[in-house]
Amino acid sequence: MTQRRKRSSPKWPIVVLLLLLAAILACLFLGRWQLRIDLPGGAETTVEFGQEQPDPGAKAVFGEERFLPVLFSPKVRTEGAADTRQLGDYTIRYHADFLWFSADARRLIHVVDRTSPVITLRQIPGAYTLPGAAYEEEGFSAVDEADGDLTSLVERRESDGVVYYRVADHSGNVAQAQRQIVYDDPVAPILTLAGGSELTLDYGTAYVEPGYTAMDNADGDLTAFVIVSGAVDPETPGVYELRYTVEDGWHNRTEAVRTVIVERKPAGTVYLTFDDGPSKHTETLLEILDKYDVKVTFFVVNYGYNDVIGKEFAAGHSVGVHSATHDYHTIYASEEAYFEDLQAMNDIIYKQTGQYADIIRFPGGSSNTISSFNPGIMTRLTQAVVERGYQYFDWNVSSEDAGGTTDPDEVYQNVIDGISRRQTSVVLMHDSKGYTVEAVERILIWCLDNGYELRPLTKDSPAAHHGVSN
Ligand code: ZN
Repeated sequence: MTQRRKRSSPKWPIVVLLLLLAAILACLFLGRWQLRIDLPGGAETTVEFGQEQPDPGAKAVFGEERFLPVLFSPKVRTEGAADTRQLGDYTIRYHADFLWFSADARRLIHVVDRTSPVITLRQIPGAYTLPGAAYEEEGFSAVDEADGDLTSLVERRESDGVVYYRVADHSGNVAQAQRQIVYDDPVAPILTLAGGSELTLDYGTAYVEPGYTAMDNADGDLTAFVIVSGAVDPETPGVYELRYTVEDGWHNRTEAVRTVIVERKPAGTVYLTFDDGPSKHTETLLEILDKYDVKVTFFVVNYGYNDVIGKEFAAGHSVGVHSATHDYHTIYASEEAYFEDLQAMNDIIYKQTGQYADIIRFPGGSSNTISSFNPGIMTRLTQAVVERGYQYFDWNVSSEDAGGTTDPDEVYQNVIDGISRRQTSVVLMHDSKGYTVEAVERILIWCLDNGYELRPLTKDSPAAHHGVSN
């Protein structure tokens, strides 16, 4: 007993002392041990709309701060989540347990929109705006990540050929865009000439501009800006060109030309006819006629200058039958006698020209009374010649050169007096008379100066019939 006591008695205070010491140490250390939750990135964070994994998460830590920083990492439970497709504030709760320790933490997440909308401008290929015209919007759209379609909120402003577009999303983020307006005018003005592009003006009549208009797709009425160049001289027959030019504001140029023809209307038609040739004067006459390029008619006889008939014909004059003999008593003795004489002359003509004549002039004219020794002969002949396919010609102007006068001045005067009184003149002259041929050049000049047309007779020409007296 004593022994056991002696053996044990000195040990137990030490154990107690050691236990006491351990308890003091444990209290010292354990009081410093703890469970905590770390939040990387902090307890409050802001993320962009649509961002993935907005929550950086949390970590639980158990240990002693100074000596044993991490003893163990318990699992963290998370409550709540941030919806980044929805703007707003979200609270996430974290919780961890270990033994009798537990820890809580929370984090605030702001989901925000800091991204601007996007404006897209539509551009129609080849589109243009006429200068001075309003720009026709080609189209645009605005889309925001957070707010969706913002097209209806786009503000548009046009200034100095530039269109400015601006839109703000609900978070106040602003987008801007601009476009340069393409101005163009590929279309030239249209010039319209009233009265047409060709006009005929009577000689001596003043030219009065019939007018014109110029219309432009962009500039409208440009008539006042048309420049007319060229001039018409109504006193000089000819062809004139008037040039009309106009330019629009884009320098598109249009030109039009009007042709004005100043024409001399004939004052009348003159058929100069020469009977009783060819003679020694006829070649002179042909030269004069050729000089003025005038064609006349020869009613020929068989007086020894038959070769001149061919020259008359070759020069473009008309050749008709007058008579082979020009002997009244022979030719008007009977119809047979008349036609025999006519045929004889026409055969000569055929020989000279290669053609028979179908125009004739009766010696003395159809109204002659010298044939009255054979009553009614002219009545019968005027019918008979037509039946045989001829046309006979009388005259309505006489030069009076077969008995009335031998003076060239009087011949000239008689002819122009007669011509000036009528529209159509069939003039009787004789190329067998030298004084008549002398008067011809002046007659031609007078006719041409006064606007008369000189023509040779054909079967269809005005016949100037007198009316038969026998
Ligand atoms: Zn005659």
